[in-house]
Amino acid sequence: MSYRILIAEDERKIADFVFRYLKKEGYLVDIKYRGDDALAMILTDPPDLVILDIMLPGMDGLEVLRRMREKIYLPVILLTSKSDETDRVVGLEMGADDYVTKPFSPRELVARVKAIFRRMEALKGVSGSADIIKSHNIKLDLKTRALESGKRSTTLTSIEFSLLKLLMKHPGRVYSRDELLDLIWGEEFIGETRTVDVHIKNLRKKIKGLGGSPDIIRSVWGVGYTFED
Ligand code: CA
Repeated sequence: MSYRILIAEDERKIADFVFRYLKKEGYLVDIKYRGDDALAMILTDPPDLVILDIMLPGMDGLEVLRRMREKIYLPVILLTSKSDETDRVVGLEMGADDYVTKPFSPRELVARVKAIFRRMEALKGVSGSADIIKSHNIKLDLKTRALESGKRSTTLTSIEFSLLKLLMKHPGRVYSRDELLDLIWGEEFIGETRTVDVHIKNLRKKIKGLGGSPDIIRSVWGVGYTFED
C-alpha cells in the first residue's frame, strides 16, 4: 500500500513541483492551497504525512499544526523560509518532525520524507516481549509510542520517540549531536545540530509533565546527551 502525503502550500509552483516529484516516487499525493482546507482534510481523512508550509492563507501552518496535534498524531515536515527561523523553532517545539528551508531541492525533501517513513516502518516491526523499556520511573511503549509515568501518559512524535528509545536502550552512553543526527535523521540529513537540542528540550518537557525528572536525559557539556544509568 502506498503512503498518502498531503502538501499544504499556497505557492502553486512549489506545490505542483513537489506533487510531481512525490508522485514519481510512488506516493499518493493531495494538495491543499489553504491552511483551513488542509486542517479539514487532516481531521476527516488523515494522510500518512503532511508537508506543511508556514505561511498559508485561511490559517497559518503553525496554527494548523497546533490544532491537529490536539486531535491526532501525524508526521509533519514544515516548509519554511530563511527568515522564518523563530517560526521554525516554534514549529519543532509544537511537534513538527522536521523542516526544510526554501529554496530546497526535491531530493532533499524526498530524503526527509523517506527517513520519516523508514522510522515508521521500523516502529511497526517492533514486537515481542521487549515492547516496553522501563527506567527511572518512566516507561516507553515501543508499540504505541506512549511515554508513561505512574498513571500519566503522553504520546511522543516519531523523532522524540526514536531519540528517547536510542538513549534509553544505551544508558550511560554519550551521544554527540552529530551522531544523533546521523542515527535518527539519517546520514543524508544536512541539518543544524540545534535541531537535536529542540527535540531534547521537548522530551524533557514531556517527562517533566508526567512527573518524572527531566534530568534523566543529561547534557554532557561540549559533547551531547546521555540517558542516566
Ligand atoms: Ca506560503
